[in-house]
Parts: sequence; C-alpha cells; structure tokens
Amino acid sequence: MSNIVAIVGRPNVGKSTLFNRLIEARKAIVDDFSGVTRDRHYGVSEWTGHDFTVIDTGGYVANSDDVFEAAIREQVIIAIEEASVILFMVDVTTGITDLDDEIATFLRKSKKPVFVVSNKVDNNSQQVESATFYGFGLGDIYNISAMTGSGTGELLDEVVKTFEDVPLEQNTLPKYTIAGRPNVGKSSIINTLLGHDRNIVTPIAGTTRDSIHIHYNQFGHDFMLIDTAGMRKKTKVKENIEFYSVMRTIKAIEESDVVILMIDAVEGIEAQDVNIFHLAEKNKKGIVIVVNKWDLIEKNNKTTKVFEDLIHQKIAPFTDVPIVFTSVLEKQRIFKAIEAANKVYENRNKKIPTSKLNDVMLPIIESFPPPAIKGKYVKIKYVTQISGIAPMFAFFCNLPQYIKEPYMRFIENKLRENFDFQGVPIQIFFRQK
Ligand code: GDP
Ligand code: GDP
Repeated sequence: MSNIVAIVGRPNVGKSTLFNRLIEARKAIVDDFSGVTRDRHYGVSEWTGHDFTVIDTGGYVANSDDVFEAAIREQVIIAIEEASVILFMVDVTTGITDLDDEIATFLRKSKKPVFVVSNKVDNNSQQVESATFYGFGLGDIYNISAMTGSGTGELLDEVVKTFEDVPLEQNTLPKYTIAGRPNVGKSSIINTLLGHDRNIVTPIAGTTRDSIHIHYNQFGHDFMLIDTAGMRKKTKVKENIEFYSVMRTIKAIEESDVVILMIDAVEGIEAQDVNIFHLAEKNKKGIVIVVNKWDLIEKNNKTTKVFEDLIHQKIAPFTDVPIVFTSVLEKQRIFKAIEAANKVYENRNKKIPTSKLNDVMLPIIESFPPPAIKGKYVKIKYVTQISGIAPMFAFFCNLPQYIKEPYMRFIENKLRENFDFQGVPIQIFFRQK
C-alpha cells in the first residue's frame, strides 16, 4: 500500500524546510538529469529502505486572509482521511497558538498515527520548552531542527515503523488510474466506459464516493479502474481543490499498475501534467498518455506528429510511451486507450529469458563497449532480469563504478528496441561479477 506522509501545521513553522530536507537526497539522484520542475509540494523520499511520498500541505494554502484558516482546517481533515501518517509541525520559538490548538483538536480525532514535531529546536536548551506541546494530548514530542536536520533521523525511525508493508499486487486484476488535471475529461471517459453517469450512483445519503475502485468487465476487458475524477466535489474551500486532487492522485498512482495520463488537446501538456508523469515514472508505473478533446483540434497530416514531439520534449528522457488521441465526446479511440493500457500492463510484467537476453545484448555490448576510463576497460559478462514489480536488469561486470549515465541510456534504449517495454520505466544495474 501507499505510504503518504503529510506535513500539516500553520504557516511559518518550517513545513517546507522539512519537506525539502526529506526529498533532497532522493531528488538529487532521480531528478538530476531529467530537469523536472521543482516547484512542487510533494515528492518521493526514502528512509532505511522504506519508500514514501511526502506532501507539504502549506504549499496549497491560499494567500487571502479570509479563506486562509478555513483552508488550513480543511487540509488537516483531508490529510487525516488520505494520508497514512501525519506530522503535526509546531514552532518551539512561538509556543502554542490558537490555530495550533484548533488543528490539534482535529488531529485528536484521527485514527491515523500523528507525530507532534517541535521544530526550530536548534539547541538543547530549547528542548525543555518543547514540553509545552504535551498540552495537545497527542503523545510524544519529536524535537527537530528542520534547518540543520538534527532530530529528523529519530523522527523518521518512528514514522517508518507505522508503515504497512503489505505486499502490493494482492489483487491480480490490472489496475489503471485515470489521472489528469480538472476538466480534461476523466469523468467523461469513465462514464462512457460504464455506459452511465457514475456520479448519479451515490445512493445512500451521507455516503460520499469514497470507493474509487471500479471493476470493469465488459467487451472482453477485465480490469480495475481507479477514479481520481469527481473528487473535487468533496472540497468546500476552493483553494483546496488542487491539494485534494494531488493527494488523491498520489494515492491512486501508487495503487495502480498503469497510469492513463489524460491531457487536454486544446491546452497542451503543462507542468502539472509533467508532475503526474514523473510521479508515475518514479513509482515505476506503466504510463499511457491520452490526448483528449481531439475533436476540437483543427488537423492536417502533421498534427499528431507535432503533438507527439511537444509531449516528448516535456517528458524526456523517458519518451518511449504510447500516446493515444481521443475524443470522448465523439467516442473516438476510447478502447484504443484501454488497449494501450493493457499492452503496457503486459510489458510491465514481461520476463525475458536469460538466454535470450544474453544472446541479444552481449553482441551489442561487444560492438559498443563502455568507454575505457583511465586506461581501464569494463567487461560486461552476463545479464539477467531480476524479479520485481517492474522490469529490472542486472549487468554483471568487473568495474561497475565506471559505467556512466550515457552508457546506461544506450543500454536502456537497446533493451527497448529489442524487447518492447513501451510505456514502462525500466531499471538497469551494473554489478560486480
Ligand atoms: P512553512 O510556512 O511552515 O512551510 O515554513 P518554512 O519552511 O517556510 O519556514 C519558515 C521560516 O522558519 C523560514 O524562515 C525558515 O528558514 C525558518 N526555519 C525553518 N526551520 C527552522 C529551524 O529548524 N530552525 C530555525 N531557526 N528556523 C527555521
Ligand atoms: P474531469 O474534470 O477530468 O473529470 O473532466 P470532465 O469529464 O468533467 O469533462 C470536462 C468537460 O470537458 C465536460 O464539459 C465534458 O463534456 C468535456 N469533454 C470531455 N471530453 C471531451 C472531448 O473529447 N471533446 C470535447 N469537445 N469535450 C470533452
């Protein structure tokens, strides 16, 4: 299951400072060459072998004063519902404020683990002052300095203990998430697939559409759809729409095998779309891009190519992804999108026999060996696919540390050319023989 850590708290307590610290190490590794936008408020982090998504709620709060506190209150409620762990951050230099008290009141009702994090404990003498936060009645206080990082290790040790490391893929049906910005057509495609308006099917008063899983079994297709549409209807504060949708999207993506990323043909691919793409990529999910509202575009024989090129530029370097142009309105190519998802699902579960892998890859490596470094030659002897949730390949060689990024890309491209992993992020490791 997905582990989502939400940092809540009033402004200026240090939420974004902690957030940046938590995703820093990972960011350097994963994002370094891909040049992704960094202005987002959620990211993937790792501690002692546990992966989790961190979300900084502060990034979604509006600036205008009248909605401000209402927005924060609602965010706390959303975080309680959607996150797996909540870090309630307070500031030791100011003590307890009214808003802190209010947030604590909500959190006391939460069934999720809540950690009270006393920030700006930059020196030992301030630890004593943190004791005031026991007044919240939320248990232990974790003293940290988000700025220097002190105390964060002890905090994370406890946080990861609460994670449920249930094995994924319990249910063998493929799970597809339809993700995308508001208004791209997510509800429409789901309603079209189902043949009725899903939003009407909320029978009992007081029950919201909490179940986001739809079992689709028609026309020879059998899969689970994970719905991220319609969720904005649950937020009352306009400013929280994006926060809620991001929260839901992260969760849905982590649960799914393939992410169907819907883009509005008229608006083109935007930063938010690219963020969703990278989130799926980093989580090693299969990806299909659906460009919807294709009926609204004036076309000639170059139009699809132009769109594809633009998308490739934005999602590079991982561009080996199917792109389907749909019109949900005119019921065009909807099943083509689903079939693309099926194919990506198969690709993601593909196992290449070791003998075949070596027969194909070793001659390629022999013709294009890794460049020698300081007069030393890397000899790659053997390759095998390692079992995992997504394709991983281990290349055994004498000097793995000498293999650089460009050569890894070369190998990845050759694997893709020869074995068809379209839509699937693959991982390549070089190991000492
Ligand atoms: P947010 O509004 O909760 O996201 O808070 P920020 O992360 O933007 O931090 C608010 C201010 O507190 C900034 O000026 C930070 O530099 C400062 N700050 C954050 N963490 C610490 C800390 O551990 N010690 C000190 N002294 N200042 C901090
Ligand atoms: P969601 O917010 O992503 O769930 O988007 P909706 O499914 O609610 O669609 C938003 C609007 O776009 C609605 O008015 C739809 O009728 C319209 N829409 C959806 N798909 C298409 C399409 O393929 N072509 C056109 N022209 N409009 C569409």
